[in-house]
Amino acid sequence: MAASFKLIQELYPLTTLYLTHSDCGRHMMSASHPESPQRLAAINAAVKKAPWSEGVCFEEAPLLSLAGLATAHPQHYVDSIVEKSPAEGVVALDGDTLMNPHSLTAACRAAGAAIHATDEILAGTVSNAFCAVRPPGHHAESTIAMGFCFFNSIALAVERALAAGLERVAVLDFDVHHGNGTVEIFQDRPEVLVCSSFQYPFYPGRFDKVNKENICLTPLPAGTGSGQFRQAIERDWQEALGQHRPDMILVSAGFDAHRDDPLAQLQLDDLDYRWLGEQCASWAQRWSDGRLMAILEGGYNLPALARSSVQFISALVEE
Ligand SMILES: [Zn+2]
Repeated sequence: MAASFKLIQELYPLTTLYLTHSDCGRHMMSASHPESPQRLAAINAAVKKAPWSEGVCFEEAPLLSLAGLATAHPQHYVDSIVEKSPAEGVVALDGDTLMNPHSLTAACRAAGAAIHATDEILAGTVSNAFCAVRPPGHHAESTIAMGFCFFNSIALAVERALAAGLERVAVLDFDVHHGNGTVEIFQDRPEVLVCSSFQYPFYPGRFDKVNKENICLTPLPAGTGSGQFRQAIERDWQEALGQHRPDMILVSAGFDAHRDDPLAQLQLDDLDYRWLGEQCASWAQRWSDGRLMAILEGGYNLPALARSSVQFISALVEE
């Protein structure tokens, strides 16, 4: 895999793939819900205006089939979500996770983006990718929809990468909320390293004390700012990645640890996301022949979300 990738890399100029889809903007839970369609509109507009956007390959996210969802979730769970999908109106799966008639399609676009991005990176046609899609996925456990998430898109991408022949992969999750779904799905899979930094104690309060070599948890108290955050990430993630030596790095990119975010109390700023992008790109170069795929999770202050995403993606484009 590594040798053929390098050969392709020498033959073709590589770029960053950016996937999104208008279907992801049709999923809406309520007029005041923070996980709103405006989030993608804000990111897409900011990315298109960025000076480096000419170097980005923009594509529409393909639709993953319902059968494709069953690699990270049992079939009965996929069937239960399909059955709950309303023909009209809104149904609540939990207090803050609701489906409208477009939610299922949006979720299949989000998962389709993650899988297509993984395929393109493994084929060597792009160097890395960012999926600007919603609903998010990292709270979705194998059989539980929660925290605005229905299907765990990054877990589906991990399964795709492993099925394609990679031996080890790593998930890095810097969303302000613990990536409980991804942890639950992979906690007994030593070939998958899951690193999650999050405000603690905080939502969702699940699996925080799991004690497995492939699960690296970095709880951070409310009020944590740039310096402490960067120190903790370097200390925990760099060491875990060095031991795991992943063939590909997948990133749950949530931007809700920003100081302006209304849902949480960490104190990161725009440039911390540039730093995170640089770290992820550099770790991918060091251990994974550059293979790096990121997917949007949280981030609820629209201007901060747009600026932070642009900072993160700029590091992928320019690496
Ligand atoms: Zn979050």
